[in-house]
Amino acid sequence: MKAALLHGPSDIRVMDIDPPEPEPDEVIVRVVRYAPYGTDLGAYKNEGGKYIKDYPTGIGADFSGVVEKTGSAVLGFDIGDRVSALAMAHCGQCRNCRAGKTNICLDDSFLNAGRQVCCQTHTRVMARKLAKLPEGVSFEDAAMLGGIVDALNAFEMMKPQVGETIAVVGVGAMGWGAVGTAKAAGLRVIAVGGTGKRSKLARAVGADHLVPITSHGEEVSAAVLALAPDGVDCVMETSASDWGVAQCFSIVTPGGRIALTGAPAPLPITPWQLVHKEVAIFGVRAGHHQDLALKVIADGKIDLKPSITHRLALEDAPEAFRLLTGPESQDVGRVIIEVTDP
Ligand SMILES: [Zn+2]
Repeated sequence: MKAALLHGPSDIRVMDIDPPEPEPDEVIVRVVRYAPYGTDLGAYKNEGGKYIKDYPTGIGADFSGVVEKTGSAVLGFDIGDRVSALAMAHCGQCRNCRAGKTNICLDDSFLNAGRQVCCQTHTRVMARKLAKLPEGVSFEDAAMLGGIVDALNAFEMMKPQVGETIAVVGVGAMGWGAVGTAKAAGLRVIAVGGTGKRSKLARAVGADHLVPITSHGEEVSAAVLALAPDGVDCVMETSASDWGVAQCFSIVTPGGRIALTGAPAPLPITPWQLVHKEVAIFGVRAGHHQDLALKVIADGKIDLKPSITHRLALEDAPEAFRLLTGPESQDVGRVIIEVTDP
């Protein structure tokens, strides 16, 4: 089988490897479509060795495909099923898993068990991470679940109300997914960020207003507040940058809610400032609403395909990652790797 393997930072090569065999609770999925996500770009660059310790290794988390083999203990999935998968492993037994919150599984040995890999023709997946694709959901749709699943998790905590204004800070794979999810939830959506075509792609997936930036790190809170003079009700930060977090606290309304997905620096707010503004802050560690995300797509409420700008074959995986991380990335939307034919 073919696999795109990382051999070092920004060094990805497509090669032949032995096909995987499933453990009793696993299935082998033939990967049909894979859409690189922000986390994958972090793993690809692996700055400071933060993501990957041992090379060579596979890459990729968000994919769709067809079940080709099932382990001896797998129930509920059969050969030929069209499926997607959650990015993170989970135990399925703990209190949080039983409540459906598999992304905060209490058993660290699962969450830290190693990354999903899918930029390859076949991959091993724990059956409990899978969902079957409903009628009307394409392999391409299902390879872009990440941003929707993350946003649904954030919304469960922020509880945005129909008609409220949300700012999605950062326009990338997660940002476009969050914009589409916010629009489907009946919110007024301001997409903040993007230096090139990326900002305009936010409009294509549902943003009502765009606040692009001309260079990274540009302060744009005044432009956002011109659109929401009382401040923004909900803010979802998707760039995992100190810039993005700073924008959140500058634009949120008193009594508003902020969902964060990462950033290195301490929060730019003191406890007293938080108290005076009565702002609620939520940490969002990926998500778990896989079936709901698929249903929302099947119902026609979210379509992220307008954010796709490139479709490449598995052999061109090095080019895909070069596009997504190189100087022209400001004009690159979602990239779909067509791993095998449906
Ligand atoms: Zn668990």
